[in-house]
Amino acid sequence: MRICLVCLTFLVSSTVLSQATTYDFPNPVDTNDKKITLQEKKTYEQNGLFVDNQFDGARLNALRFENDSTLTIQIDPENFPINRSPWYAFRMWTTTGLSKRVSITIDYFENIKHRYWPKKSTDRKTWTKLEETSVSVANDTLSVTFSVNVASDTTWISAQPLETSGDVRAWSMEVAKHSLGSFEVIGKSRMDRDLLHFKLGRGPKTVVLISRQHPPEVTGYYALKSFVSRIADDSKLSRSFLDEYTVLIYPLLNPDGVDLGHWRHNTGGVDLNRDWAYYRQSEIKQIANHIVKTVKESNSEVAAGLDFHSTYYDVYYTTSRSVETKYQNFTDEWLNYVKSNIADYKINDQPSGLGSPVSKGWFVTQFNIPGITYEIGDDTPPDFIEKKGKISAEAMMKVLLDSN
Ligand SMILES: [Zn+2]
Repeated sequence: MRICLVCLTFLVSSTVLSQATTYDFPNPVDTNDKKITLQEKKTYEQNGLFVDNQFDGARLNALRFENDSTLTIQIDPENFPINRSPWYAFRMWTTTGLSKRVSITIDYFENIKHRYWPKKSTDRKTWTKLEETSVSVANDTLSVTFSVNVASDTTWISAQPLETSGDVRAWSMEVAKHSLGSFEVIGKSRMDRDLLHFKLGRGPKTVVLISRQHPPEVTGYYALKSFVSRIADDSKLSRSFLDEYTVLIYPLLNPDGVDLGHWRHNTGGVDLNRDWAYYRQSEIKQIANHIVKTVKESNSEVAAGLDFHSTYYDVYYTTSRSVETKYQNFTDEWLNYVKSNIADYKINDQPSGLGSPVSKGWFVTQFNIPGITYEIGDDTPPDFIEKKGKISAEAMMKVLLDSN
């Protein structure tokens, strides 16, 4: 059989071109698989008081009844070393027909300090922070004790509101009903959960939005939701923008970690936001390749890339202005618009150049544009997250339309 060398070369190079390229970042990170420990899924019971972790997003590694109304709960990470983001979530109910006040102490792994103020819900949708007076963080901050009323109806306790893969899918499919929207599962996680994707718009240029590399960072996901809702709101600005741009949204990069209640990593035991150089973890490999392939196939170019996270306070980790890229002025114009449209708001902009292989740097190495990590504080009020998300989206649309 004769093989057409030109054809073969074309085939090979077009396949390579439609894949994300590798890059040697100045501060490489070993993202080969590490061993993780799965929590035991279990229901605990004493004298009609039940506690369990048998639901998506749960984390409860061990439980001890000190007496009928006092519990000690152990919370461990999926593996170690790990960032300090000790996630917990469990639910409680009684079968005695009586309501009882239960005192719960959460002990964290080794010397890991408390981070997330406990929230409760009776429907898993509406969450309230426990009252100040019922929560006591230990002086050494290595544990937290709080009390809640438990009755026959289930009470959920969680570090942040639960937004599991099912919740993210429902939201994504809802937004993708937009007249210029479409929803797609682009692959599977290591444990066979769907890698969700939807897009909005029909424009020749592309914007990429990603979120939830780190499971507990729910406030960052809320920022993504409000950001996207402004893009999809069918206003005059939205319609003009979606004629000029196509927005690719990947709302949940770490579905296994989210559903398993991980502190930070995927089931490869790796921080996915350090894998944007060699794509050793299948979630990042598939999503990075999908972005590149989609952009190449539509002969488009990426104009902006934002990755939504949470940390202790609101901050924009931006690309240093000394890194030469296309759309060089985007970051400053965007932040200036946000600043001038939120009264008394001080922008916390922390620029840096290429360091470790994070998504922000990947937008530089892959598309030669300044990447942005949009960080929301753990305790930023929901109404402000929403307001800032919408204004930030409005700012992006205006700045990008003006740059055309
Ligand atoms: Zn993060």
